[in-house]
Amino acid sequence: MDAIARSVPVGVVGAGTMGAGIAQVAAVAGHEVRVYDAVDGAAAAAVEATFARLARAVDKGRLLQEEAEDAATRLRAVDTLEDLAGCGLVVEAVVEDLEVKRALFAGLEAVCGPDAILATNTSSLSVDAVAESLALPGRVAGLHFFNPAPVLALVEVVSGARTDAGVADLLVATATAWGKTPVRAASTPGFIVNRVARPFYGEAFRLLEAGSVDAATVDALLRESGGFRMGPFELADLIGHDVNLAVSRSVWEAFGRDPRFTPSVLQERLVADGRLGRKTGGGIYADDEPPPAPSTADPVAGTGTSAPWTGAGGFDPSTPGWRIDDGDVELRLTDGRTAAQHTGGGPRTVVLVDLALDATPARVGLAAPEQAPKEHVEAAVGFLQRLGHAVTVLPDVPGLVVARTVATLAAAAADAVDSGVATAEDVDTAMRLGVNYPRGPFAWGERLGWDWVAGMLDALAAADDPGRYRVSPQLRDRAGDGGATLARRAADAMWAGDAASQALGMTLESVGPGRAEVSMRVRADMVNGHGICHGGLIFTLADSAFAFACNSYNRSTVAQGADITFLAPAREGDLLVATAQERHRNGRSGLYDVTVRRVDPDEAVIAEFRGRSREIPGTLVPGEEET
Ligand code: NAD
Repeated sequence: MDAIARSVPVGVVGAGTMGAGIAQVAAVAGHEVRVYDAVDGAAAAAVEATFARLARAVDKGRLLQEEAEDAATRLRAVDTLEDLAGCGLVVEAVVEDLEVKRALFAGLEAVCGPDAILATNTSSLSVDAVAESLALPGRVAGLHFFNPAPVLALVEVVSGARTDAGVADLLVATATAWGKTPVRAASTPGFIVNRVARPFYGEAFRLLEAGSVDAATVDALLRESGGFRMGPFELADLIGHDVNLAVSRSVWEAFGRDPRFTPSVLQERLVADGRLGRKTGGGIYADDEPPPAPSTADPVAGTGTSAPWTGAGGFDPSTPGWRIDDGDVELRLTDGRTAAQHTGGGPRTVVLVDLALDATPARVGLAAPEQAPKEHVEAAVGFLQRLGHAVTVLPDVPGLVVARTVATLAAAAADAVDSGVATAEDVDTAMRLGVNYPRGPFAWGERLGWDWVAGMLDALAAADDPGRYRVSPQLRDRAGDGGATLARRAADAMWAGDAASQALGMTLESVGPGRAEVSMRVRADMVNGHGICHGGLIFTLADSAFAFACNSYNRSTVAQGADITFLAPAREGDLLVATAQERHRNGRSGLYDVTVRRVDPDEAVIAEFRGRSREIPGTLVPGEEET
């Protein structure tokens, strides 16, 4: 579709920050622009200020002298709304007040011809509500610019339920002709950017409120590890906490106070105390002091204990992790469970690594179980330092900092797509251009895997607030994990009640539908009079793996019997891994195989088990149907 012709005059109502910027954009694009403001002299002052901005754009080499002069001749202030008669497009940018906007649109309808398009630059009001009592609501749409409008490329073209499709198409073509990148959004609370961005601030405030991590460390990790241009606190200080909180509140209210969007108590307090950010001399950070340094681990002397990593490399959830310090320490990407949960009663210390944008972040966050040996933590720190990363040691909180932020952003992006707000491509474009995200959050979710995203939310829901972090049915489907998330949740429930496996120092290495891997290091107190591991304990290891595999569908299943073949002895210090597979038969019983291998010091098969399983009443995870 063609854009609105340059010969068609454009009206701008409201000559504040946004109106003046939009008028400049339209004038530079070649339209005659008439600016009206209810306050006497405000439109004229805005036009004067725009002339000055055009001159500065010439100085900076963004515009040619002739372009700026031509634009200036096309731009003028008008004194009455009636002066907008003859405009083919009017963009409203008055105060964010529904009644004021409704009255204005009624006035515009009386003044403008029936073919004129009436657009609102509202950030948070419903386009349908603005157009509600108009005779021709089909010509009303949102044309949501971002501040500063002459600089930022993104424009959300917002369609209400009654907006004509042709009107939205015409606005998309016009925004493109004006040098902008338009995305289409349905008129839902926050449209795309203001809705999807909520967790960026929400998760940061959550961490700060819990006293888990200080603001400078959160900001540094999101910048230096996550690749965001600014951290959430420095950005909120810049935007102003009053503005940021108002957006949070309006999205929260518009969604019926959905706990996913509950505003931060801490931010409410900042606003109440007048600590609005840079404009009041301070918010989270004080303006008159140098910014505090993020928490950074001191250099750990290279002791040579770190072996090269054995994983595929890159901070990616699909990599198996890296063993260092002779295998006593394992680094894994966080999946929302704590390092203590990962370590279990196992022989190794599992140290969790926070998510990073790519494999070469300037900074990496990590967390170890609270009780982890100091030398294990140091081995992990030293290992990452020697790879060239600054290291931040975090408390063992679920999802650490970057991972929980990115997972909740990805879930918000998926939710916007699943709710029909916008296409995945437009959501990602909006977030990259509107708020400078280093990667579209939908694409990021795809790359990390929706099962990882859903798993992170499940872990946060379990540890913190089930309502805030609930996984939508569509996200659960999107996880398309064939039951992987459920398998892990069932395994977590199983593990929590399994004191015997924990006492024997077992670790659940992995679990999926119908399969599980459990490891155990043979201790001195596990060997018999021959100096080899008790067969009964090897059976116990196999039985644990069997139990995780069989219960992965959230059915309670028990073993009925087994054929056991012991093939090689296991001795003190051996690291054994039992791999179990269950093949389910006719809904109530199945066959299972478990192989116990020694992974350290060699790959010998120690024992094989084959048996039958039988389902008994009950589930492990309440409220979850079997998949
Ligand atoms: P602003 O306060 O800077 O300017 C509003 C202007 O509208 C004022 O000059 C005021 O005199 C005028 N006005 C008020 N009622 C009027 C009426 N009935 N008729 C004519 N003029 C009237 O506000 P702003 O920051 O430019 O925001 C304007 C709109 O743009 C709001 O809907 C806001 O939500 C939206 N918006 C703002 C930003 C931002 O960052 N400031 C970004 C995107 C969208």
